[in-house]
Amino acid sequence: MNFSIRRSDQTTYVEAQGDIVAGVGRDLESLAGKIEDKRVILDLGRVRTMNSVGCGEWSRAIKPLASAFLIEFAQCPIAFVDYCNMIPSMLGAQGLGGSVLIKSFYAPYACRDCRDEFKMLIELEDVRKTKQLEPQPCPRCQEPVKPEVESEDYLTFLDRTL
Ligand SMILES: [Zn+2]
Repeated sequence: MNFSIRRSDQTTYVEAQGDIVAGVGRDLESLAGKIEDKRVILDLGRVRTMNSVGCGEWSRAIKPLASAFLIEFAQCPIAFVDYCNMIPSMLGAQGLGGSVLIKSFYAPYACRDCRDEFKMLIELEDVRKTKQLEPQPCPRCQEPVKPEVESEDYLTFLDRTL
């Protein structure tokens, strides 16, 4: 995994390019030395593939990062959200000084009329209080459609973040 890094307003923005597969742990470890701000936004929008080996490495490597920095994951792919819901340590270790939150993430939707699937980028602030994924307009017919997942299941990660 490669990281492109820029700084602005005392925040380090990291854009991840690559996959969460074997070797990602070492890549994440090398990231720590390149960060100069306490607040880090880690953009995962370009991550395409992930597997259980990669997620295991990710969980181990994110723990020290979460202790050293305030990390916000942005544009998390659906598969990443699924893994976070299954493996709490993907978000750092809660209760051990870990400080990671999911700032924005994708959720799956499907319009029955158009027989079209789409994903929507959801901001944490939109679900933080209600803990509900709201209907979103279909890109084709503009009618509001419900998410393809149960909010209660898909937003499990909310209870594990700040
Ligand atoms: Zn539609």
